Amino acid sequence: MKTLLPTSTAGSLPKPSWLAEPEKLWSPWKLTEQGLAEGKKDALRLSLQEQQHAGVDIVSDGEQTRQHFVTTFIEHLNGVDFEQRETVTIRNRYEASVPTVVGPVSRTKPVFVDDARFLRKQTNQPIKWALPGPMTMIDTLYDAHYKSREKLAWEFAKILNEEAKELEAAGVDIIQFDEPAFNVFFDDVNDWGIAALERAIEGLSCQTAVHICYGYGIKANTDWKKTLGSEWRQYEAVFPKLQQSNIDIISLECHNSHVPIELLSLIRGKKVMVGAIDVANHAIETPEEVANTLRNALKYVDADNLYPCTNCGMAPLPRDIANAKLSALSAGAAIVRKELETSR
Ligand SMILES: [Zn+2]
Repeated sequence: MKTLLPTSTAGSLPKPSWLAEPEKLWSPWKLTEQGLAEGKKDALRLSLQEQQHAGVDIVSDGEQTRQHFVTTFIEHLNGVDFEQRETVTIRNRYEASVPTVVGPVSRTKPVFVDDARFLRKQTNQPIKWALPGPMTMIDTLYDAHYKSREKLAWEFAKILNEEAKELEAAGVDIIQFDEPAFNVFFDDVNDWGIAALERAIEGLSCQTAVHICYGYGIKANTDWKKTLGSEWRQYEAVFPKLQQSNIDIISLECHNSHVPIELLSLIRGKKVMVGAIDVANHAIETPEEVANTLRNALKYVDADNLYPCTNCGMAPLPRDIANAKLSALSAGAAIVRKELETSR
């Protein structure tokens, strides 16, 4: 039997302090070699247990085995030189020193498939696995080889498709592609970004999702948000084409965000992971606040298509706060579930 309003997280969750320094992106590992390999697995188990304790329905690895949602995947590929670095502007927002694409990109072996198999063994609940999207990947690199954003995105899409097929075989139920870049490069998204994403999901029979957000609660993002004005209409530029795409689920930021909720009507028919938890502050939502965000979304999304979620990953948050927020998500979803069940 299918649960109504199944809850999930956008992806990353805080790591234990013995594994990596907390509240920090790209936090270096505290363990090495065999100790690190074991530590990552133990952290994955803990993260799963914390999600289960909070009542999350669709669980994930909490991204415990990766340092960063984009970089870690790219580190496993050929054709990218991490020693050769150039400064680029990521998502038109902040400068960063990034690795260089020096030759044809390829995947020599699976990146996360063993981790997914390990998670699958721990639970019978539905599993969601996050991968970076092609456009977000190219935006974190300097390309000295293809010299075409579109061409490089297409090559990454083929690689992601290989990984996704193996994740599906490992028992993953939902494969999600993180595409915060979809909120920035609207023309490219419509010209080739969505097509690249569809290449990445080609031949999959599991559910597929795209996560489009306004980012972690880090300073570069909160500063950028201040420039966006009182109404954030970025989704409006890409929703019509996404609605026509083969992607099953669209994961969005909604709670405390300035996104006009009626924009959800542009993706009518899609399943929607509605962000009902703010990841950019430490205040714990009340279950009633979560319920309100979900009720607002229900004006534009059919109940069967509504998946309560977090606005974005929670890696940079303190662990106890992330856990409390997840419990609030479950409690809020339970309120609305009850309302829907009594009205049916
Ligand atoms: Zn996000």
